[in-house]
Amino acid sequence: MHQPLPAPAPRLWIRNPQAAFTANNLDASGGVVISGGVITEVLAAGQIPSEPCAETFDAGSHVLLPGLINTHHHFYQTLTRAWGPVANAPLFPWLQNLYPVWARLTPKDVELAATAALAELLLSGCTTAADHHYLFPAGLENAIDIEVAAVRRLGMRATLTRGSMTLGTDDGGLPPQSTVQAPEVVLADSERLIGAYHERGEDAVIQIALAPCSPFSVTKEIMAESAALAERLDVRLHTHLAETLDEEDFCREMFGLRTVDYLESVGWLTDRTWLGHGIHFSHEEIGRLGSAGTAVAHCATSNMRLASGTARVLELEDAGVPVGLGVDGSASNDASNMILEARQALYLQRLRYGADVPVERALGWATRGSAAVLGRPGLGQLAPGMQADLALFTLEDLRFSGSHDPVAALLLCAADRADRVMVGGQWRVVDGQIPGLDIAGLIAEHSAAAKRLVNGVR
Ligand SMILES: [Zn+2]
Repeated sequence: MHQPLPAPAPRLWIRNPQAAFTANNLDASGGVVISGGVITEVLAAGQIPSEPCAETFDAGSHVLLPGLINTHHHFYQTLTRAWGPVANAPLFPWLQNLYPVWARLTPKDVELAATAALAELLLSGCTTAADHHYLFPAGLENAIDIEVAAVRRLGMRATLTRGSMTLGTDDGGLPPQSTVQAPEVVLADSERLIGAYHERGEDAVIQIALAPCSPFSVTKEIMAESAALAERLDVRLHTHLAETLDEEDFCREMFGLRTVDYLESVGWLTDRTWLGHGIHFSHEEIGRLGSAGTAVAHCATSNMRLASGTARVLELEDAGVPVGLGVDGSASNDASNMILEARQALYLQRLRYGADVPVERALGWATRGSAAVLGRPGLGQLAPGMQADLALFTLEDLRFSGSHDPVAALLLCAADRADRVMVGGQWRVVDGQIPGLDIAGLIAEHSAAAKRLVNGVR
């Protein structure tokens, strides 16, 4: 008896896009072929697939990109967007006003906030999102489990970080004592989450990373213990570093160290680590980060919103630091829009380095660069063997009328919404909508939760 051969996966040809950005030197003018959740062929102008395709999607009115990848966020902050008391404040007072509000978060709040943030990201062309959640007040011990469920419902990929705060005001830290946890609780829960959810391999949907929050909210001990645990279980490490000069002053006073020395002293100056912000580094420190392969999530909008400073992205990349983009939390942006974030990063870096920073370089940060930051080499490019995570934009709105270069138009004319988004070969956005998600209902519930949260009504 012959065993029947398994049926070949159906093949989809996304044919002849209006334009394509591949994040490498491949010509994708003829489109891409998708099979089994991966890109099997990238076709140059005039080429056709090597084998017949069961389905064809005519992309003649679409600009095709690898799915955008967000490397730094705090989903729960969608509930405190544009909140009056901190609308015009720098980081430390911004945090001190918000910590007591965030300490009231409930499981339902986290579910609504994560869904809102992920849906907004997805509609902006984002296929993989990192989140940094570090608030676990009583009753919210399962915050990451709730986020995992939200990611799965939307069919995206995510690196969810088990954040922590262990240095409260009683011990010279910034957060109120009620928001910090004991280190043994943090480490046990970190290990539980990695065991329960962390997937390995290029097609991983959920990954877990460890993320003590920032130098001013955690002890050196939890930093070192998290690094050891990450090494033992082979997961990535994430934290905020060198975001503001206030933080640099704090490190000098508390630890007697500059930020990169502090990072090295706790065993984090490695290629396992990616840093949120990474602004205030000396030339010598940039060299050390590059030699170590430590990555940076550049959060242009948040850095402008809080007037934190301008990251030296070109110098970081030249030194060998992988750089990606992050929208950061929605209380310091206050949008969760990855294509607009690429525009902001382009313009902020042009302000530092000049108008010849190319549009394609900013799109590269949002795709291939962000994939490197999250340690996901199978994402962020259009190339054979890469995961079939795609974002397709149309240029039919008034804002694009009269534009010439379709790829440049995405950033220069401020594209803000994808028409189609694919994750692992599955369409997750169709005609600018997420099939199966009641956006109006989500907005109603999410806004009501946001009002209750800031008003202290539970
Ligand atoms: Zn952040």
